[in-house]
Amino acid sequence: MIIIPTKLDIRSFDLEAITKLMVDFNQPKFRAQQLFKWLQSGVDSFDEMTNIPAALRQQLNDTCYIATVKALRKYVSQIDGTVKYVYELYDGELIESVLMKYEHGYTVCISTQVGCRMGCKFCASGLYGLTRNLTASEMLAQITYAARDNNIRISNVVMMGMGEPLDNFDNSIQFLKLVSDENGLNIGLRHISLSTSGVVSGIKKLSAYNLPITLSISLHAPNDEIRNRTMPVNKKWNIDALLSACREYQKVTTRRISFEYALIEGVNDSDANARELAARLKGIMCHVNLIPANPVKENTFKKPDRKSIIAFQKKLESLGINATIRRTLGADIDASCGQLKKKTKEEIDNANIC
Ligand code: SAH
Ligand code: SF4
Repeated sequence: MIIIPTKLDIRSFDLEAITKLMVDFNQPKFRAQQLFKWLQSGVDSFDEMTNIPAALRQQLNDTCYIATVKALRKYVSQIDGTVKYVYELYDGELIESVLMKYEHGYTVCISTQVGCRMGCKFCASGLYGLTRNLTASEMLAQITYAARDNNIRISNVVMMGMGEPLDNFDNSIQFLKLVSDENGLNIGLRHISLSTSGVVSGIKKLSAYNLPITLSISLHAPNDEIRNRTMPVNKKWNIDALLSACREYQKVTTRRISFEYALIEGVNDSDANARELAARLKGIMCHVNLIPANPVKENTFKKPDRKSIIAFQKKLESLGINATIRRTLGADIDASCGQLKKKTKEEIDNANIC
């Protein structure tokens, strides 16, 4: 059933806002902390909040709703335990999330939008444009669901699922505030990465917040000619504009920047491309993440063979650029960003037709 919320989205409220609400409800201030904790614990209804008096629970039910995600699909890798979820939102829209286990703990990769309007040619998330932004609470719910479902504590978050977080700026910032609050999930900002395709206006805005998160830039090309072909955002903000915003960002935050570089055979993987990339990144304290491009049904992009990927990495290193090849997790449930949602949507549509 589809429920359209007309009530207050209380899971998007920070502690300050909940405190104000409790004052309005003539409640003692300590209720705010109790309520905030519950909302970050992943409970889906006010009735589960056992230390909240019944009358207040009723009042909350009447005025507020708790944003949740519902797992429509769950794929568990038999190789490394990676879990990929396809979640349904209150309005029937679908998003993806991934839970990964590393030596240092569990990481959740969250979506920030339903779809994406940036239109990168190699990405399945952008195939149908943007449907809507996620609320901060819907971002948070992806983490609380994974934590509860697997009975674990999440220590790291990457905003690298479906959507462009800087195209949903205010909700992304509010999410960062909520998830790092020590009264709730308490995931330190140093353990959170935000990935952007290069929305320069957003990078500039973000630098004013001076957050100790890791900024990750999806560069994927060493020059404008290649980047224009694969990433339409480059026509608005070219590589010079993007890297200049990165330099400014680094001046303010003093944080190392991460550059994502999906290697596509015959497009951006040559020795000359590596040299050009190294030259462009000179002077930026950074790390390059090399990702073998994930083939998407709708395009013809292929990943280079292992030997070429290693050669690209070695070339960057020899030119003084720190580079690693991203480990592939969940290879047996292989589906790059946006593909699982698409597959699930097609299954549902087919079921509805039959
Ligand atoms: N919109 C943001 C964050 C989500 S995309 C961004 O673009 O940065 C997360 C990462 O997956 C980005 O680096 C994106 O470029 C990459 N990506 C998308 N499709 C891919 C594919 N088919 N193969 C490899 N990486 C891909
Ligand atoms: Fe959007 Fe990122 Fe996919 Fe580009 S790569 S279409 S910005 S989700």
